[in-house]
Amino acid sequence: MEIDVNSAIITEDDWRNPIMTYLRYPTLPSEKRVRIMALNYLMWNEDLVRKSKDEVLLRCLGKKEYMKVMGETHEGICGAHQGGRKMCWLIRRYGYFWPTMMKDCIDYSKGCESCQRHGPIQQAPSVPMNPVICWIWHKHSNSSCFNPLLIMLKLMGRQNQATRTSKREATGMTPYALTYGHDAILLMEIAVQSLRIAHQHNLVGEDYSQAMLLELEGLDASRIDTLNKLLAGKQAVSRAYNKKVRNKSFEEGEIVWKAVLPLGTHVAGYGKWSPTWEGPFIINHILGIGAYRLQDTEGEIHAAPINGKWLKKFYPTMWDSQAIQTDPGIETRLL
Ligand SMILES: [Zn+2]
Repeated sequence: MEIDVNSAIITEDDWRNPIMTYLRYPTLPSEKRVRIMALNYLMWNEDLVRKSKDEVLLRCLGKKEYMKVMGETHEGICGAHQGGRKMCWLIRRYGYFWPTMMKDCIDYSKGCESCQRHGPIQQAPSVPMNPVICWIWHKHSNSSCFNPLLIMLKLMGRQNQATRTSKREATGMTPYALTYGHDAILLMEIAVQSLRIAHQHNLVGEDYSQAMLLELEGLDASRIDTLNKLLAGKQAVSRAYNKKVRNKSFEEGEIVWKAVLPLGTHVAGYGKWSPTWEGPFIINHILGIGAYRLQDTEGEIHAAPINGKWLKKFYPTMWDSQAIQTDPGIETRLL
């Protein structure tokens, strides 16, 4: 690849300037740092050349030239929008060098608008789980509730008796037992008498009430045990969920891309080449746990809030960031 740039024009702030001056006029006073660096370089027809470890000569480029080289390599005719490391490897193979080439290539590829617009969408949650335990007890409305048989008969008309009489994995108890202190009696247990039914039939009125009250008194302890079990369960679920969390948070005024929703939406005429991200947008307001309100570049505020997992940071292209360094006013003009 040949770059049509006149490298003989070297400005004051060019990184090559001190090395070239030393190589041309070695007797002039110079910094020790420059003299050590210059060991790896030589002059070749007015150009600075670096001797690489594998004895290959690499042409040294100034900022104007290397921006052109990175542009050609990443998005030119032969460019394939490669990542920064691959770009750096290619540029070195073409025979070019500048000291910050790896960092610059990574920044260039990060800031490529096309790459950002077509990047993959990761569906990992952006904030840790906020577990909620719903802890509601049924009230005992009258003494008939003490009689499991009556309760069972009341439940008979309901669709959900199976759920109320099945043990839950999270609590190790049935919802019925957590409310009344013992499990409901199933019709089957009356037809084919179970041990507890046989025991109940041996109790006279007073003893029966005593037994029921004892069970209710023991209920508080069972409920605390259950609550602890629930908490432990929720913590285990949170731990598993939080492993997947990719911490992403944005600040007001930050520029972001927003995923094109619903996922997989195709833009007419683009088919499967449709962009996956749209924008850029500006974070107008932080609404709370991972939710944001966006604003477009014309200043219009979006009504619907958006979950942070559908947003990603916007990186300005290196062409813009180069311009920003020299002309601070350009940043506002870009928006
Ligand atoms: Zn790209």
